[in-house]
Amino acid sequence: TTIKLFNIQEAQIPIAKKWGEEHGIDILTTPDRLALENVDRLSNVDGIVLCENKLFNPKLYLELKKQGINHIVQRTAGYENFDLKEAKQQGVLFANVPDYSPESIAEYTLSLALNHYRHLRDIEHQVSQYDFRWTDGIKGTTIAGKVVGIFGTGRIGSLVAKYFKALGAHILAYDINPDSSLKDIVDYQSTPEAVYKEADIITLHMPQTESNTHQFNADVFKLFKTGAYFINTARGGLFDAADLIQVINDGKLSGAAIDTYEYEFQYIPRQVSADMIDDKILKQLIKHPKIYYSQHLAYFTDTSLNNMIIKGLNTSLEIIQSGTTSRRLT
Ligand code: NAD
Repeated sequence: TTIKLFNIQEAQIPIAKKWGEEHGIDILTTPDRLALENVDRLSNVDGIVLCENKLFNPKLYLELKKQGINHIVQRTAGYENFDLKEAKQQGVLFANVPDYSPESIAEYTLSLALNHYRHLRDIEHQVSQYDFRWTDGIKGTTIAGKVVGIFGTGRIGSLVAKYFKALGAHILAYDINPDSSLKDIVDYQSTPEAVYKEADIITLHMPQTESNTHQFNADVFKLFKTGAYFINTARGGLFDAADLIQVINDGKLSGAAIDTYEYEFQYIPRQVSADMIDDKILKQLIKHPKIYYSQHLAYFTDTSLNNMIIKGLNTSLEIIQSGTTSRRLT
């Protein structure tokens, strides 16, 4: 039995090889994406594990079938780059790995809030100038006593709620499907507006769908508490970036931490130069003193990279051996 991993990072190869030895499975790896140009190199392969962050060509489903491959495992939570209807139509079983490390994203979210309220960037800059004064600009504020508003209390959002609660914050949340097991931690609101109006920190942990695309736009930001802080480690399409920059410039919001931006994968994960970026909004996000921008890396921990490989391979093997998996989406 042979399983091939695409889009693999150098550091993940030994993890995959070790798993292969332990399970008696041959492992093939490539840094390339699966594409029409290389799909014919799968003749002796039984399963494939992808990490697709760009649009997946739907013509590939049929091509995979021609190669005798009837399943795809995407080793991340997100699968918006796949046309699942087409996969189903072509008889390709599609599965993802939604639970590789919710702690990684939740902890990063917490660190973004702490970074903002304790001014770590400004402290570093000030100290680098040998300026050791206790200036107003670096005077912190505690999370204790703050109201945190969470959109989406699933795997990641529920952990975010617990972490902020442990620091002494009051947790408001809006979820289309509230989780009653969180009742001692989360104060669920029946409308998004109730959260917009009361929260000091608003953090997004829901998927992007047709109905919530650009939900966070100028009209909604205007309902926020003046001075509120906005954190988005979920999906870039959930907010209007130009509107966000405007409300921060107007002094309505105190700032934002943006880990996911709508058009990010044009550049991520590559090193480019400033003149190669023609997206003016992205440049503003990067340079804005009140915005902390990062390149979709909330997930990026040793635990995540390890679990993506192990859980991805386990899922592929399960499908090869039993014909299905509880992680299947088609
Ligand atoms: P999940 O499916 O476990 O939870 C999502 C929650 O959002 C659910 O409780 C659902 O009921 C709720 N929800 C759905 N639509 C909603 C809406 N319109 N309004 C309010 N709530 C809504 O998902 P998860 O694993 O916790 O992931 C949450 C988000 O984090 C996803 O967008 C995911 O893509 C993103 N993510 C980001 C990174 C990163 O590196 N930045 C990594 C992994 C996941």
